[in-house]
Amino acid sequence: MIELRFLPLRARLTLWYMLVLGAVVALYIAGTAFVLYWQLSHQLSRFAIQDVETVEGLLSFTPDGHLNLNENYHNHPQSRLVLERMVEVLSPSGTVLYRNERLDGRALGGAILPKEGVNGYSERSTLLSDGTRVLLVSRRHILAGRPIIIRLAYNQKPIWSRIEELLTASFIALPVVLAMAGFAGYHLARRSLAPLEEITSRAEQITADNLRQRLPVENPRDEVGHLARVFNSVLDRLEESFERLKRFTSDASHELRTPLSAIRSVGEVGLQKSETPAEYQDTIGSMLEEVNRLTRLVENLLEISRADAGQIRPGLTVFSPLDVVREVGAVLDVLVEEKALQLRLSGDADVTVKGDRLLFRQAVMNVLHNAVKYTPAGGTISVGVTEHLGFGVVHIADTGPGIPREHRGKVFDRFYRIDAARARDTGGAGLGLSIAKWALQVQGGEIKVEDSVEGTAFRIQLPAVSAFQPKMT
Ligand code: ADP
Repeated sequence: MIELRFLPLRARLTLWYMLVLGAVVALYIAGTAFVLYWQLSHQLSRFAIQDVETVEGLLSFTPDGHLNLNENYHNHPQSRLVLERMVEVLSPSGTVLYRNERLDGRALGGAILPKEGVNGYSERSTLLSDGTRVLLVSRRHILAGRPIIIRLAYNQKPIWSRIEELLTASFIALPVVLAMAGFAGYHLARRSLAPLEEITSRAEQITADNLRQRLPVENPRDEVGHLARVFNSVLDRLEESFERLKRFTSDASHELRTPLSAIRSVGEVGLQKSETPAEYQDTIGSMLEEVNRLTRLVENLLEISRADAGQIRPGLTVFSPLDVVREVGAVLDVLVEEKALQLRLSGDADVTVKGDRLLFRQAVMNVLHNAVKYTPAGGTISVGVTEHLGFGVVHIADTGPGIPREHRGKVFDRFYRIDAARARDTGGAGLGLSIAKWALQVQGGEIKVEDSVEGTAFRIQLPAVSAFQPKMT
């Protein structure tokens, strides 16, 4: 047998619809049959009571002591149910005083029950000797000073016949109704699911190469429209990250190509023109410089791709930002001296922050290294550490060319350089600030370019420890 859950949705919906409808109709038929039975039984017993009253008036004793009944009274012509009227009259001792022809000698109701017919009419359903089920109404009566018990019964078969007719007609009609409902239900389900099928077939056509396609949204407020909208927004995000990935790959290859071709041309020129060991040394030196640049770039790219893959998890510790700034300053000291720059480090050594020390160091290194790279010889770089509004803040300001306002939002984008030619000379690929931004954000920190009178000023911040717990004094 096919399992229901493996059927297509519209077939399942139709089956469920038919099943529920069938159950409801069957319940309705059963209810109708019950009400019909109740009404007919009620009607029959009313007729029987009326008839007992009539019989009471029509009974008489003949002079020889026999009981006589003039049965020529009205016959409830409006009802087919009362044709089989049976009458029996008993004495309190159980002697049969009268039995009408329809009883055909059969006893009606057997022995007299203790309170039968006393203080009103007794009603019950009973069987005749031939198995006929009848509705029996009894009543005690005094006729010519003698107590008698009148029993009057109607065959209940007509009631059952009516119910049978109803059930037969209903159960013949039921499959037809169900088939029609199933047909209509199937088409309804098909129509309702058509937009879903449309969405599915469109979705099947969407591949990594044509992520620009979107699903049709006919009615944005219904469930299918909602699904299509959600799917479209997933596609938006997917397209965006695909685009970003493509841009990253092409930018990265472009950046890799530049130092590689520089190495090649320096090597070629060196081979052709160098004659003395000093010239060869010079060529090798230039090549090594490019190799260094290439190595830095590859390291940065590796770091970015590891970060994108979520492989770098910040390990939070409490540390002093001023210590980190001093460390970075020491590393860059040679470059600072080379360019005759002035590096001024100051700040509060008590300020402590909570974050990943290595990632923070990397961010400070990238920003400070930029300051060293872009500040012309003889300039000044000032680094200060303070605590402000629950954050440990590092200000890095230089007296270099500055970052024009329109570029400030973009300098944190990958591969973004304000002046590509100028930056190339200084060796940057436009990745340093994007790495710094990521390194700080991943641990709850922030980096911004600040307004400054001259040069460039960066503000780096991480949550101060005092923001988490009161500082010990
Ligand atoms: P790069 O490796 O090229 O330095 P970054 O992402 O670190 O890349 O910086 C992006 C761009 O922002 C740089 O190319 C440079 O044009 C500009 N920039 C960054 N820091 C400074 C600064 N201190 N002074 C002037 N320009 C800067």
